[in-house]
This record gives sequence, structure tokens and C-alpha cells, in this order.
Amino acid sequence: MDYKVNIGLEVHIELLTKNKMFCMCKSRFGDEENKNVCPICLALPGALPTPNKDAISLAIKTGIATNCKIDNKVLFDRKNYFYKDLPKGYQITQFYKPICTNGYINLENKKITIKEIHMEEDAGKIGKNNTIDYNRAGVPLLELVTMPDFENADEVIEFLKLLREILVFCNISDCKIQEGSMRVDINLSVRKENMPLGNRVEIKNVGSFKSIKKAINYEIKRHINLLEKGNSINIETRKFDENNNITVFMRNKETIEDYCYLKDPDIPPINLSEKFINSILNTMPMLPKEKREIYKQQYNLSQNNIDIILSSIKINNLFEDLINQNNPPKEVSNLICGELFKIINEHSLDISNINFNIKYISTLINIFLNNKISRDTYKSVFFEIIINNTNPIFFIEKNNLYLITDTNFIENIIIDIINKNPNSVNDYKNGKEKAFKYLVGQCMKAFKGKCNNNIINEILLKYIN
Ligand SMILES: [Zn+2]
Repeated sequence: MDYKVNIGLEVHIELLTKNKMFCMCKSRFGDEENKNVCPICLALPGALPTPNKDAISLAIKTGIATNCKIDNKVLFDRKNYFYKDLPKGYQITQFYKPICTNGYINLENKKITIKEIHMEEDAGKIGKNNTIDYNRAGVPLLELVTMPDFENADEVIEFLKLLREILVFCNISDCKIQEGSMRVDINLSVRKENMPLGNRVEIKNVGSFKSIKKAINYEIKRHINLLEKGNSINIETRKFDENNNITVFMRNKETIEDYCYLKDPDIPPINLSEKFINSILNTMPMLPKEKREIYKQQYNLSQNNIDIILSSIKINNLFEDLINQNNPPKEVSNLICGELFKIINEHSLDISNINFNIKYISTLINIFLNNKISRDTYKSVFFEIIINNTNPIFFIEKNNLYLITDTNFIENIIIDIINKNPNSVNDYKNGKEKAFKYLVGQCMKAFKGKCNNNIINEILLKYIN
């Protein structure tokens, strides 16, 4: 029997605003417990919320970047439930009228529809010693809800990577899954082909892309096993057990009725002017998708290098700065993806803490491409720039690393080597390629690596023949 899988996502995204969603408390990860709280986010009697304009801007930005329709009337609602990390006894969210609706993100072979993106506030969390930490209570969140368009784990991961790229490059969120600034809930159902959607199971807060993939694949198998045995699927919420790579029962799924949604009477409707929305539209940076196209079509970079160059803003800025200084994209890409990452990995460096003068790299590339230094020198001077911010010209001159360009001098040395190795010359003439390599090796030794390989080959052949 063939089965069809339908997966929808609910992605919670913490916004990179300075302040919380409805008060002026700092919105920051890692502070001392309960440092960033005030009467509003602690829900003391009489405290009134004021929506954060920056958070609304970022929600609109996300909507524009994901092809959504933006609603110019902003309304907030209350989602009522009781839990100790929720001081008000309700969460302010947008239930009836989400700010962004009906968008999409294109995967390589498929379009994923975004049903809505709405704004809400985060809850607090249980602190280190089972205390409650309200620093996170009131932090601005977006919840992005997709249609159940995904059919397998790979499509989900592809989507999440594209989404993260958009959010990071537009400075909307840092999307650190391990710090909880991007949290993914998976809604999954399995059905026999041509049947309506099966019963849905939700998997909450899976901690990494790797685990998301494992959780989905485990859950698909579990559903199929149950269906094969003629059992039905319970509608429930599950969590992923990272140690055993399985999903386990968490609770029965709440229904909409459980939350008694109602309009928040404390927050009057906000009308967004066209001017305000346009001002955000005008400051949208070039999206990673467009950059991808340019890197592929115009610069002819490999898929792997494109992924690396778009892996962080810092790397991307470095690449684009070097391109803007008229360096050939392919050379820059090879240098960053090859040499730079080799240095970073071998020396366990953090890219955000490395500081060097970008002009030094431009200078170095220029010297290399003009055949003034060998590839080995190119690499070692690059290392010096990254680690010690060394001026390449000083370094090359000080260590006498320029290639030898005096043709008479080169010819004399090569003639000398030919004269001293008559056997190798004869062997080569009799078809032994190895003998030629030996002669090249002797020349390299004599020039201490400071003569261009092509020149050596050319002059050797000229005098042997
Ligand atoms: Zn506060």
C-alpha cells in the first residue's frame, strides 16, 4: 500500500528588537534571571501594554520577504491558558487577523504556501533551580504557519534553511535554534493514497535540523506501522527524545475551544499607513535567493561555495567587499571557501572575532594573479593576514618571497641542471615522463620554489629539444 505524508510547520521566531513586545524591558538572551522585568510584563494590576513599533516593522519585513499580503490594520487578541511561566494567565497574540497572510517560499522543486505570520509575545521559562525566569516573558515573537505542503523531511529542512537565511540576512532574527530564537513545531499526518488527510500529530520544539529530520522519519514509520495493523492514529502532542531518537507522547492536543480566544481590550487597533509600509519596503536588502542567482549565473560559482558564502552575514560581507574592490569572484570564492575555512577550522577560530584589513587581501590577490608569487606563498601570506593582520607587501619583501623574473638567470640555472643530468634527459627523450618530473623537481629545488612552474616547464623543454 502506498502512503502519502503531509507535514505543516509552525515556526516561532524571536525578533531582534531591543525591547520586549509590549513594554520597554530589554529583550536579551542570557541575562541574570528576572533582570529584565517590569509591571507590564509581570502583569501587575493596572499595567497596560503598548505594542513595539520595531517588532511590527520586522513582522512586515518578514511578510514582504516571504511574499505575503500585509494587513494594514493591526489587531491583538488574548489566548487564555494557565501555566506558571505566563504571568497574565493569557498570551497576547493575533488570532483573528494575522498581520501577514498567504505568502510562499519556493523550494527547488516545489512551492510551500505560508498560511499566515502573526505577532505574539513569548512566555517566561523555568530557570536553573526550578525557579521561574520572566526575562523571556513578553519577548516579541513571530509565528509562521505553513500549509501541510511538505511530503518528507528533506523538503522541511530545505524550507527551514531558506527561511533562516531570509531572517538572518534581513536582520529579523538570529535564528539560533539552540538558544530558542527559532523553534519548530511539526504537524504530521499520514494517509493512504487518494484518501483525505489523516489524523494529525504535533511534535513540539525539536532542538536542531538534524533532530527534526530524525523526528519526522521516525514519526512517518510509526504512523505507517499503526495503519498497517489497522489501528487509528491518536491526535496528540509528542516530543522528540534526543537520546533514543524516538518521539514520545507528551499530552493530548488542545483544541481551539480550550483557549477561549478574545480580542484584547487593552490594545486599540493600529492602522498602518501606506507610507510606513513603503518605508520598510524601501529598506529591504537583497534577499539571499537573488544573491544565489547572481553567484550562480554571473559568477559561475559552485553550489557548495555559494552555500558557504551565504552561511553568515560576516562571510557574505567579506565576499561582497572583495568583489566590490574588483577582485575576480571565482578567485575570492575559492580563497574564502578553501583557505579561510581551512584556517578557521584548523585553529578553531570564531569568524565573528577575526579582524583583518580587507584591503590586504585585495592586494594579495592582485600580487598572486599577476604571477608575482607562488601559490604556496599566496596561501602562507593569506594565513598571516587572517591571523596577524600582516601587511602582505611588507611580509613578502621582508621574507624575499617574490618569484624570480630574471629570464637570463632562470635560463642559466636550467641549462646547468640539464648539463648535470644527461641520463635523465636521455630517459625523457626515450619516453620516460618520470624523468622530466625529476628535472622539474631539481629546478624547483634550485629556485627554492620561487620560479613559476610554467616557466620552468617551458624553458626545460626548449633546451632539451
Ligand atoms: Zn517589562
